[in-house]
Amino acid sequence: MASGGGLLDDAGAFRSTIFDETSALAAAHGAINLGQGFPDEDGPRFMLDEAVSAIGSGQNQYTAAVGSPRLRAAVAAQQLETQGRELDPDSQVLITVGAAEGLTASLLSVVSPGDDVVVLEPYYDLYAAVVSFAGANLRPVPLRPPHFAPDPDELRAAFTERTTAVLINDPHNPTGTVLDAGTARLLAELVVEHRAVLITDEVYEHLRFKGDHASLVALNERSLIDHDLAERLDERTLVVSSASKTLRATGWRIGWVTGPAELVTGARAIKTYLTHSPAAPLQAAVAAGLENLHPWAEDLAAEQGERSRLVVDTLRGLGLTVADPSGSYYVVADFTPLYERLGVTDSIGLSPALIEKAGVALLPIRAFASAGHAEQFDGWMRVAACKQPATLVEGMRRLREALG
Ligand SMILES: *Cc1c(COP(=O)(O)O)cnc(C)c1O
Repeated sequence: MASGGGLLDDAGAFRSTIFDETSALAAAHGAINLGQGFPDEDGPRFMLDEAVSAIGSGQNQYTAAVGSPRLRAAVAAQQLETQGRELDPDSQVLITVGAAEGLTASLLSVVSPGDDVVVLEPYYDLYAAVVSFAGANLRPVPLRPPHFAPDPDELRAAFTERTTAVLINDPHNPTGTVLDAGTARLLAELVVEHRAVLITDEVYEHLRFKGDHASLVALNERSLIDHDLAERLDERTLVVSSASKTLRATGWRIGWVTGPAELVTGARAIKTYLTHSPAAPLQAAVAAGLENLHPWAEDLAAEQGERSRLVVDTLRGLGLTVADPSGSYYVVADFTPLYERLGVTDSIGLSPALIEKAGVALLPIRAFASAGHAEQFDGWMRVAACKQPATLVEGMRRLREALG
């Protein structure tokens, strides 16, 4: 960790640089930006209309710090439906400014300086930043190419007597993988054994389109662990999600944390002093979105499966090794065979080279790893396959033309 140089370690500083630089360079070259992971189209029309009508009907002041009653009820109903968890909307649901604030408040409420936090690496860049804010240590478990599944022994070895939190993102950004049942069960056992708190980042919960759907929090529902273990896991699990990816509203900044009342109260204590409460009219609109999630969510997952398939097929057509995605917005592939052709020696150089020579911006996966671990992910690039079909088709056409 940096000493005296600020709160972010070198990895955090490096990551923000490459994300910003890639987008700036993409804009300067008129490149198709398949780097940043946000949709280029809106969520459901009725949800947008609800936001306008909420602003026009006086819903413009603070809500309660825990969030509006209507949105808390909608989140509880949605989680009961998709995960089989019964939640009291008053004590077990906290509305936050995006999953970002939900993750931040959850981590800060359970982690103390000197604690260890287990994460799967590569990981969403906010994780390292917040663990660093807390003065805690990141314990990354590598998801190695080409399958990006954790090794059970390495997972076990990452837990120490100082492990207080385990932060799992499933479905996974950047690799597009979903946790297999065996890993989910092992995680459940390790979390309970070490009396840690499990924080699950489920922003892609409705973007599963293939394979094993063993959501960590639904293990019990699916009879994958015994009832007793499931109950003990439930007592120590905070689920974080948001409207950003599910309802294509990344700019609205509406998210939530759910879990046992005691843990939610802890996160709430921190959250209240970060932002108090998120935008009131947008809470109303997201409530409408969740109350009418069908068939939107099913269509979204099916559509994303098709978009991801288009990218997978194109990259395979270029002779690249591709990790078949089961969820999330992303497709990852190994671009090493193209180094010589593009005159680069690593995937950091590849990003600007692809912008300049192919007119397409992608992000290197090594940017999602700690500085000391980046090398093992070199070559692998992330394609944000969440863009509209026309954008993706043009991006893939450009890649084929420049590299095929
Ligand atoms: C997008 C994303 C987030 C942030 O979600 P917001 O609700 O927009 O704050 C968190 N975690 C992962 C893995 C993401 O991809």
